[in-house]
Amino acid sequence: MTPPAEGVERTEDSADFFDYADRGVLLLRRCDACGEVRGPQEAWCVSCRAEEHTVVEAGGGGSLVSWAVVHRAPLPWLETPYVAAVVEVDEGPWLLVRLATSGDPLEVGTRLHLEVDRVPGSEPLLVARTS
Ligand SMILES: [Zn+2]
Repeated sequence: MTPPAEGVERTEDSADFFDYADRGVLLLRRCDACGEVRGPQEAWCVSCRAEEHTVVEAGGGGSLVSWAVVHRAPLPWLETPYVAAVVEVDEGPWLLVRLATSGDPLEVGTRLHLEVDRVPGSEPLLVARTS
């Protein structure tokens, strides 16, 4: 399993991620050498270190791995408190995202749906919602 990584910044390499996120689609990267699927922010494969990849669209499902309530936001436009969660995307990689809860108790393995949220003045943000 892939450990969670830091956020994605818009660069020439990640522009396709943001362009698709604008349309509500999460892009992942499938290693051309070994087939491992990794997050959009990972430049090389954690299994074989190859950089070559093919972009694939995620189905939008995932499972809750871990979470924490954040009371001091790292970015000024994020309202607190919010829940930060590590989600195992159905395709395999783990992503660190905000979690919008329905108020039901959270458990490891809770099924989640990943969506793209728009915050004025910001790049698109991934948000996981309880199903
Ligand atoms: Zn690989």
